[in-house]
Amino acid sequence: MSDIIEAVRAGATGEVLAQTPMPSHTRAVFVRRDEQHMFEGLATRDKDPRKSLHVEEVPLPELAPDEVFVVVMASSINFNTVWTSIFEPLSTFGFLDRLGREGIWGKRHALDYHVIGSDASGVVVRVGSAVRNWKVGDEVTVQCNHVDDQDPSAHDDSMLALNQRIWGFETNFGGLADISVVKANQLMPKPSHLTWEEAAVNGLCNSTAYRMLVSRNGAPLTQGDRVLIWGASGGIGSFAVQHALNSGATPIGVVSSPSKVQLLKDLGCEYVIDRSEKNYRFWKDEHTQDETEWRRLGKDIRELCGEDPDVVFEHPGRQTMGASVFVTKRAGTIVTCAATSGYMIEYDNRHLWMKLKTIKGSHFSNYREAWAANQTIVDGKVIPPLSAVFTLDNVGEATYQVHHNLHEGKIGVLCAAPEEGLGISNQELRDKIGEERLTLFRRNK
Ligand code: NDP
Repeated sequence: MSDIIEAVRAGATGEVLAQTPMPSHTRAVFVRRDEQHMFEGLATRDKDPRKSLHVEEVPLPELAPDEVFVVVMASSINFNTVWTSIFEPLSTFGFLDRLGREGIWGKRHALDYHVIGSDASGVVVRVGSAVRNWKVGDEVTVQCNHVDDQDPSAHDDSMLALNQRIWGFETNFGGLADISVVKANQLMPKPSHLTWEEAAVNGLCNSTAYRMLVSRNGAPLTQGDRVLIWGASGGIGSFAVQHALNSGATPIGVVSSPSKVQLLKDLGCEYVIDRSEKNYRFWKDEHTQDETEWRRLGKDIRELCGEDPDVVFEHPGRQTMGASVFVTKRAGTIVTCAATSGYMIEYDNRHLWMKLKTIKGSHFSNYREAWAANQTIVDGKVIPPLSAVFTLDNVGEATYQVHHNLHEGKIGVLCAAPEEGLGISNQELRDKIGEERLTLFRRNK
């Protein structure tokens, strides 16, 4: 193990860390360019992340002036980890090559391996010469919006920037590693009442849900709104439920098992639909949807909470979008950030225009939104939906579980942290929020 990781583990001060030598290499999770066609011809479900994800030492690049090195104590599995590992819908090497054409610092990313991961909690161990607000020794979480702040298009809403990227998905040197390269404008304070692994699972999913439901760039929700949330105990859904409750709105969660129904009720979500029990068949066959099934969902929602949803939180995509557009209230909003089950979407446009509904696209969040979302965690108003923890060496299995929907909430990954449960520096706040509530998603530990 390198001196710097040992020093971070031992809780060394910033001064000591700054004097401790950096290693030339780090342990990291990556996919390989020469394997990007390995799953061709297989069905999506048969593409196995355990075969494509490698864990080995790779060289650390030179640090750009606006970047920091972070010793990553913990990271998480996101659905983009799945996409990268199965090379769908595209191999991510195309993203790296495009970044590689943007100057000398961009060139570092266009390699024959792609170090992935879009979440991290850890400690800053080096800062570039242009970094002002962060110093060696700071405990941080990382948000994954990778933006060139010298681009004018990045200065209204940075998600509109022409060269906006997701760190660890469209860039190299992501968070599933012992040491990662992070732009200074991705850093946020680590919530002091959380362990490293609890702090590592929020950046990407919480910020995404925040923009979709709370920010003025999203739906946004207001008190009294009804919001239908697909995948409500999953990564983004479990944050969406909490933001809906905090906004004074009423979430209607959709999940696929009785145990997930109970989990959502324990989280405070009164109205939950078990889609497995209901056995909705929105598609009669691959090409034909069934409006009577959309109506059945709409009736179930009305019976539960008396109203049609003002907002639908969409991400399953092809399987559910027709139903989502149908059940949304007149003048309501369908806010979508994904299409897990297929991105060629079909819905009946008559239900959209005659009832003056809006479909709104959303993608991750800008730094301001990510910061505000992080604040909800720092204040204990949103809990981390950490359900399981894997080691870095076992990332393939963790990614397989998310790919096959075998998980709840978020899966954390221990990187440089030697064991679970470390990193809490504000026990008083932890006690105030309550251990039981903070670990709600870990009931199957
Ligand atoms: P998870 O797998 O953690 O959760 C998704 C949930 O959706 C599942 O738990 C499942 O819940 C539900 N689901 C899956 N397939 C279907 C289906 N066919 N019909 C209805 N429900 C379904 O993933 P995440 O929440 O992390 O991400 C969800 C999607 O959002 C992914 O495609 C991801 O890439 C995307 N995403 C996009 C972001 C952006 O910035 N644009 C950011 C984050 C995520 P259940 O079985 O219980 O119903």
